[in-house]
Amino acid sequence: MAKKLSPMCSRCGVLVCRPEIKVDETPPIETAPVFCPMKLMPDVIDDAMSEYKDDGVKEFARQASIQEFECYEQTPEGKRAKNTRIEETIQLAKKCGFKKLGLAFCAGLPKEASLLTDILENNGFEVVSARCKVGAVPKETIGIRPEQKIRGPRNWESMCNPISQAKIMNAEKVDLAILLGLCVGHDTLFLKYCRVPVTVLAAKDRVTGHSPLAPLYSSYYSRLMSKPRGKENGR
Ligand code: SF4
Repeated sequence: MAKKLSPMCSRCGVLVCRPEIKVDETPPIETAPVFCPMKLMPDVIDDAMSEYKDDGVKEFARQASIQEFECYEQTPEGKRAKNTRIEETIQLAKKCGFKKLGLAFCAGLPKEASLLTDILENNGFEVVSARCKVGAVPKETIGIRPEQKIRGPRNWESMCNPISQAKIMNAEKVDLAILLGLCVGHDTLFLKYCRVPVTVLAAKDRVTGHSPLAPLYSSYYSRLMSKPRGKENGR
C-alpha cells in the first residue's frame, strides 16, 4: 500500500504559499508539490481560518502582523531588520494594551531574569515571575534515581516544575507569559498547562549561549548531520 502523504513544507522549493505576484492575482495552488498541506488538507486550513473570525484572535493576529512589519526599516542600502526580540516583545505587549507580564524562567538564568524584569518594569509593565524550581519538590517525586541527579546522589535536587510555573501565570491572570530559557521538555509541559497567552523569549541551549540554531550555521557541529550509528540504512 502506498505510504500516506504528509505535509512536508521543509522539503518544498516551490513556495506557492509565498508567491511573488501582485495583490490582485491568485496564488497558483495547483502548482504546489503533492505533499503541500494546501492540497492535502484544505479542510484543516479552512477550520484554522475560522478561528480568526473571533474578534480577540483576529485583533491579536493583526497586531502581531503589524509588529512583524515594523521590525524592518527602509534605508538607502535597502530593507533591514531593526528590532531585537526583547524590543519586539515589549512593542507587541504595548500594542495589545497588556499591563501585567509573567516571566517563567530557568534557574540557570537568574541574572537574565533580573535584567529582563528591570527592562519590563522600566517600560511600565507589572511583572510577575516564577523560577523553574518553584515548589522545592525533590526530583525523587517524579521517579528520578540518585545517580540521575546533576548535583550528585547525596544532594538535594529540586525538580523543574513547569506545571507550577504555568499555573502561577494562570492564577495571576497575566496578560502575556514570557518563557525564558526553560529546558527541552519542561517547556513542553509549561506550554501544555499555560492558559494565558505565551511567547518564547529564549530557548535553553547550554552549549551555544541559548542560540539553538547556532549549530546549523557552523561546520564545527557538522557531526549533527551524520546519522547515528546503526541508522545508516534508515533503521
Ligand atoms: S504550504 Fe505548500 S507551497 Fe508552501 S511551503 Fe508548504 S508545501 Fe510549499
